[in-house]
Amino acid sequence: MSRVYNFSAGPAVLPLAVLEEVQAELLEWGHTGASVMEVSHRGGPFMQTAAQAEQDLRDLMGIPDNYKVLFLQGGATMQFSAIPLNLGFAGKRADYAHTGHWSKKAIADAKRFIDVNVVCDTSEEGYKHVPEASSWQLSDDAAYVHITPNETIAGVEFDWLPETQAPICADLSSTILSRPIDVRKYGLIYAGAQKNIGPAGLTIVIVRDDLLGHFPADAPRLLDYQVMAESDSMNNTPPTFAWYLAGKVFAWLKANGGVESMAQTNQQKASALYDYIDNSNGFYTNPVAVDSRSWMNVPFILADDQLDASFLAESHAAGLHALKGHRSVGGMRASIYNAMSVDGVTALIDFMDQFKAKHQ
Ligand SMILES: *Cc1c(COP(=O)(O)O)cnc(C)c1O
Repeated sequence: MSRVYNFSAGPAVLPLAVLEEVQAELLEWGHTGASVMEVSHRGGPFMQTAAQAEQDLRDLMGIPDNYKVLFLQGGATMQFSAIPLNLGFAGKRADYAHTGHWSKKAIADAKRFIDVNVVCDTSEEGYKHVPEASSWQLSDDAAYVHITPNETIAGVEFDWLPETQAPICADLSSTILSRPIDVRKYGLIYAGAQKNIGPAGLTIVIVRDDLLGHFPADAPRLLDYQVMAESDSMNNTPPTFAWYLAGKVFAWLKANGGVESMAQTNQQKASALYDYIDNSNGFYTNPVAVDSRSWMNVPFILADDQLDASFLAESHAAGLHALKGHRSVGGMRASIYNAMSVDGVTALIDFMDQFKAKHQ
């Protein structure tokens, strides 16, 4: 077997131990005599697996009882519309921080359903920092405040929350479970699974009870959080394989020290990589302000972009894959989610150093 170090931004690397478990039970799952993909979502074995996955996620994140946990489809992108539809009842407008590519998309979709007040906007500088809280132009009567705490493409992150009475909605697609957070401070948290949870096709929504029950009568029913909560996310067929696999990742996280332990390792990985970049005498640079740097997605640019193609070819040959930066940023990007080991980051740094020695 020759698995590479996979730095893909998403769908992204999964824990090997999880994939091996899945492989071992792919043809015969438990006592069902069938694969998990071939059995009813309403049968006992799947219902039990689904409930256990939810419980493990609740344990990992400390999700209080007055929050629903939904296992949905449509990706984080579908939530860009579902959020204004579900939460728009509480005010005339919604506040959105524009700190990167994904918040821009969230704003564009929300505008179809609600007035949007953009509280800060770093698009002109190319998303290189997150403006401090005191500069945000929050409205008094916002239905909710939407933030993207980790912008996956620019590698821009903040871990504080704005001061507001309105419920905070956070797109945690690329940072969920990377460290502890206090769920009680949020009205709604959502995340596509394919970065830090499991395979594509599953979206997690964690939403406070009191925000349910105000959905417009003429909007698609499957976007109504209350409908999905009342049916335990099984109003229609859920993405069973993705749900099952996410459950295995949650169990793996619990067995490996939970989010506290992930936070330590993630911080260690990110510091090592940023330190190396910052000390490369400008051969590599990270364009993001130091206080806004992501633990999960680390873009870096080579001083001489003529070397980009060789960097990508040689790193690929060395078993370090998916390092090409997003087309809007250029250069490279290493995504180092929970399932990326310290060894993987060390191998990347070693490679970068050899490459620099050869070409500087
Ligand atoms: C990947 C990503 C999305 C889009 O997710 P889909 O599941 O493809 O819709 C949205 N927000 C953030 C922060 C992301 O990283």
